[in-house]
Amino acid sequence: MIEIYILGGLCLFLAYVLKWLINIVINEWKKQRVMSSQSPIALKTRKGLVPFTFDCEDQHITLRTRPVNGNIHFVPTTKIVIDTSLVQSFVLQQLHFHYPSEHTVDGHIFPAELHAVFRSSEDCNVVLARCLALGEQPVWTAHDNILTAFKSGTVTLNAQELFSPSKDGWLMYTGSLTTPPYAENVTWFVSQTPLVVSDTFLRTLEAHFNSNARRIQPCNGRHIVAFL
Ligand SMILES: [Zn+2]
Repeated sequence: MIEIYILGGLCLFLAYVLKWLINIVINEWKKQRVMSSQSPIALKTRKGLVPFTFDCEDQHITLRTRPVNGNIHFVPTTKIVIDTSLVQSFVLQQLHFHYPSEHTVDGHIFPAELHAVFRSSEDCNVVLARCLALGEQPVWTAHDNILTAFKSGTVTLNAQELFSPSKDGWLMYTGSLTTPPYAENVTWFVSQTPLVVSDTFLRTLEAHFNSNARRIQPCNGRHIVAFL
């Protein structure tokens, strides 16, 4: 009988120790999850308010179309690196479109939006976003190439024209992916000036991507930085 009491006591003691150890692991894990934006950090000097620069020799990037979950991604054939004010460097993964635009600027919804998704070796993302607007001139020079690419599967774009930091102002904020799993590891740069495209271009986007835009989310006090 006494053995049963000893065994019972030992089991209770081991359960208590196990619970204590699990609590330590969980608390440490929670601490690491919450405390992910600590200071100080390794900083880089920068020339004025330049949000990013491309490490791209001739400024031209060639992309191939790839169907992904009912969407079409334009994937680069060479390694394109972007240098930002963030500590990591980011490599271009793909370009894609949304119809209509996901972001609004001064309450204005644009007909469409282009996203260029970059990723670091630590799985953080930078997305450069350009809204597209209907207009006469000057039309985005890659306009016709992209229309052809929906059939041919290949397109060459001028990165400088697409993402020129000196020409247009950019708004930067930290947010998430706009498709599942909506991971909050994204720094967004959204151009304040839309690219001008034709009605034909917008009709083509509508045919391929109709209503693939996520609705506007609450800002919740986040900072938005303007690079002009
Ligand atoms: Zn997108």
